[in-house]
Amino acid sequence: MEFTKDNFSEWYNEVVESAGLVDKRYPVKGMHIWRPYGWKIMQNIDNYFREIFGEYKHEEVNFPLLVPETEFKKEAEHIRGFEDEVFWVTHGGLDELDVKLLLRPTSETAMYPMFSLWIRSHADLPLKIFQIVNIFRYETKQTRTFIRMREVHFFEAHTAHKTFEEAEEQIKEDIEIWKKIARKLAIPYRIVKKADWDKFPGAIYSLGVETVMPSGRTLQIATFHQYGQNFSKPYDIKYLKEDGEHEYVHQTTFGMSERLLGAIVGIHGDDRGLIIPPEIAPIQVVIVPIVTKKKKEVLKESKKIRDELRESEIKVHLDDRDNYTPGYKFYDWELRGVPLRLELGPKDMEKGQVVLVRRDTREKIFVSREEYVEKIKSLLSEIQENMIVKAEEEMKKRIREVDSIEEIKENDGVSAVHWCGSDECGHKIEELTEKKIIGSPINSGEKGKCVICGKETEKIAYVAKPY
Ligand SMILES: [Zn+2]
Repeated sequence: MEFTKDNFSEWYNEVVESAGLVDKRYPVKGMHIWRPYGWKIMQNIDNYFREIFGEYKHEEVNFPLLVPETEFKKEAEHIRGFEDEVFWVTHGGLDELDVKLLLRPTSETAMYPMFSLWIRSHADLPLKIFQIVNIFRYETKQTRTFIRMREVHFFEAHTAHKTFEEAEEQIKEDIEIWKKIARKLAIPYRIVKKADWDKFPGAIYSLGVETVMPSGRTLQIATFHQYGQNFSKPYDIKYLKEDGEHEYVHQTTFGMSERLLGAIVGIHGDDRGLIIPPEIAPIQVVIVPIVTKKKKEVLKESKKIRDELRESEIKVHLDDRDNYTPGYKFYDWELRGVPLRLELGPKDMEKGQVVLVRRDTREKIFVSREEYVEKIKSLLSEIQENMIVKAEEEMKKRIREVDSIEEIKENDGVSAVHWCGSDECGHKIEELTEKKIIGSPINSGEKGKCVICGKETEKIAYVAKPY
């Protein structure tokens, strides 16, 4: 690694490529290639989504990539929010299309015409579906791997309910699901309500899950939106109630993206490279044989260890490459963030032991062959837990309670400040600090005075520079 993490932006840009996650040389701005190692991590995350959303009775679907302009234009606010970000398909071969098509920037306008065909009666509700697809946004700002891209690997869950209250219950369930995801990915976060001018186009309100990167800038990594009937009316999604009347459904969405991987890279990595949380690591343990002498015996024993670990459902890889030194291999797997390294040399074989090295603390542990499988299992869960605790502590340090505009300007992390909630004071805060209100914590704080107008309030605004 050329850059250290103190130089966060350069470090990040370097590590995503050198650790084998992506190749950035594709000749379209904001579109990178997923390389095998990066794609495996993302697939592990996706597969966990399939598992957890399945437990909560969501079903996976897959919608077409193209949306007709006529469907896209049904919800006015939604169009205004996205019209300068969409890629258009205007031709089929040499013929100009009668109805232009767009590449989905998100899938409301692809899905909801179908919802109006699928939903007939109260018995069809709730409808809970999700898909994992790529979406496209015409980004004009500087792009950054996983964080701001033109082609984005995207997760979106869409639900439809009988009443507003049931849709509210869904959002509570979304938060419950999110908490499990956060533990799995070891990502610290705060849930905020977005300011009115910053909500999803077409939503009644939006909640954002925000994390803080080592640069002090915030990264929105998940969103929950309450649509109420804002989409069901223009898309005519109605159901027949028990009393024979027709009613429009209430809808919600839950969105996440490859930004989650960006957060994992940024939050957990160090000067040596990535640190991947054991629960989503494609390789949890890498075996590096130390084959200065007794090569045949050591390799044979290493294979035996690999097979034993596989049988215990530990994701293991044996690095038996001939033309690299152990030192090079250590460096290589540290860069890729494999949580545990297992070393085995002739001396260890004599003593009936293996050497384990933690990626997170770099602690070296000697353990006997009788106990090593159990020890690895407990170390993997210790590493996961340690990553969660450490990341939360570090994020806490980057959120500071302040009570003046001056302090917000000076703070290079997140400032928590009292705000009366008015648009006028909110815009003023953003203007004076040249930062953004990324949202307000959903639980209100202690009483204080609005930093602009002085009015007493319990409402807090988080002010920061977001990615
Ligand atoms: Zn105010």
